[in-house]
Amino acid sequence: MRIANLRNRLVIITDEGAIDVQAASDGRFGPAPESVFDDWKAFAEWARTATGEAHPFATADLGAPVPAPRQVFAIGLNYARHAKESNLPLPPKPMIFTKFQSSITGPTGQIQLSGDTVDWEVELVAVIGAAARNVSEADAWSYVAGFTAGQDLSDRTVQNTGSPAQFSMGKSFPGFAPIGPMLVTLDEFDDPNDLRVSTLVNDEVRQDSRTSDLVFSIPELVSYISGIVTLLPGDLIFTGTPEGVGLGRSPQLYLSPGEVLTTTIEGIGTMQHEMVAS
Ligand code: ZN
Repeated sequence: MRIANLRNRLVIITDEGAIDVQAASDGRFGPAPESVFDDWKAFAEWARTATGEAHPFATADLGAPVPAPRQVFAIGLNYARHAKESNLPLPPKPMIFTKFQSSITGPTGQIQLSGDTVDWEVELVAVIGAAARNVSEADAWSYVAGFTAGQDLSDRTVQNTGSPAQFSMGKSFPGFAPIGPMLVTLDEFDDPNDLRVSTLVNDEVRQDSRTSDLVFSIPELVSYISGIVTLLPGDLIFTGTPEGVGLGRSPQLYLSPGEVLTTTIEGIGTMQHEMVAS
């Protein structure tokens, strides 16, 4: 199943178009996109056989599939080759920061650069589908509603200020957490542990890797986080970025006004954003 946020209404995406969930469920679910996660299991069961009128839609009308998550977790240094390009050792436990909720935006549109050291980080984003506390790795997948694509845009100057540096602020400017274009449930993937992830700037490939290179798998992350923080329905986990970020290049390379950032994850889709000056 694929669900999306079409002009602030929850829809199911089919080959024929978008089905409005509130209309198709006679008001049982929706219309708010985030309302579905508190009742995810019932929704997913209903949606499996749901029928309704499908309408064609424009990608530009899609918003963030989870526009207002209560908690957003992001994982640093979670791909082996990315840790190497950052000249940092692999963390013994997941390294976690947040992207504050107001940085969330949808899968298209403009993003204002905060300065001249804003970097790209394509990331697979896991969306939580049930409250999770002290979950085992073996049970962890059952707490994941599905995946969406994300960019963990990062102002490297702000991120790396101070000692020790703290990452959350430099990654939380408005628009620095685009997600979309839709949420895809796990049954849609042949192997949810091995998806191609890529970033293009204009037409140049900057990142092209696979989630099979993750250091801490999604079940490990859900288990670890839920042993400390109660995960809530609709929460997001940005699972880390692979190699190819601008910070790791010589010379370093960052986003400029006018450039188009294209983010693609296999089986989920593509987001496209235009960078604009601050
Ligand atoms: Zn990241």
